Amino acid sequence: MAELLKGKPIADKIKENLKSQISKFTSAPKLVALQIGENQASEVYIKNQKKQAELLGIEYELKRLEGAATQKDLETVILELNKDEKVTAIIVQLPVPKHINAKALVNLINPLKDAEGMHPANLGKILLGTYSIGPCTAMGVMEILESTGINLYGKEAVCVGHSEIVGKPLSLLLVNKFATTCVCHIATGERGVLPKHVKEAEILIVAVGKAGLIKGEWIKEGAIVIDVGINRVEGKIVGDVEFDEASKKASYITPVPGGVGPLTTAILMRNVVELYKNQKHLSS
Ligand code: NAD
Repeated sequence: MAELLKGKPIADKIKENLKSQISKFTSAPKLVALQIGENQASEVYIKNQKKQAELLGIEYELKRLEGAATQKDLETVILELNKDEKVTAIIVQLPVPKHINAKALVNLINPLKDAEGMHPANLGKILLGTYSIGPCTAMGVMEILESTGINLYGKEAVCVGHSEIVGKPLSLLLVNKFATTCVCHIATGERGVLPKHVKEAEILIVAVGKAGLIKGEWIKEGAIVIDVGINRVEGKIVGDVEFDEASKKASYITPVPGGVGPLTTAILMRNVVELYKNQKHLSS
């Protein structure tokens, strides 16, 4: 039976470390979140971010802009935040209204203040292996893998999902650790070869958003299974992997909820601290 990989103890350890670092800073890092229009889902994230930031000693400001704000309005706000020396980190809260190009906004953030690690310059550093920040969920998955003590060198890793926030950066993070990494996506599924690849995985990470996509019988004996997916099925939150069946074969498996989720905000806070240290020329 697989051992459960719970995210909270790992996230708590990261935050404890951050709190101790921040207590030695001469000023507080400041994270500004931009919210455009109203959205129930982002309300939950924002509340959580604010709570976590304040517990750690990070100043948190929410800038709410009306849903009718234009791209130009938002660009002006970002350029002002880039200039404001008190602001050390910026996050554009997703989703944004349809008329807004979120990617263009992120590209405008000074990469030194890019809290989510999604600016092309920061993504490029992941490719080069010279990063200290990165996309929160992908970095969180790496922390969970590290907590198992497994050496990724030469391991067969399979990422199912190739989004810009999870699958793509994660595949580079895994390659940086010398895992032999395969990335599966919609075309893999359509071609009918998803089971073939999953069956090879010693490390399996799934970030798709389809409940039950990964069948328990596909899991390799002893595999580490990280389920990033979040799906609501009959009022319950479940992942993308058939949990009960997969647990019988895996050595480790993340629960959903309670696996990867708690890491995302902890890594966001870690990014904020790393950005602050870079700006103030403090060593890591
Ligand atoms: P996305 O929604 O942008 O993309 C989905 C990916 O799945 C794409 O790469 C697509 O090609 C692939 N895909 C779709 N159908 C497939 C199939 N049949 N076979 C193989 N691949 C298929 O991805 P995302 O934004 O990374 O989100 C994925 C899931 O992870 C969602 O459920 C999301 O809610 C969840 N998520 C969780 C966290 C967290 O903190 N726990 C963070 C981010 C995303």
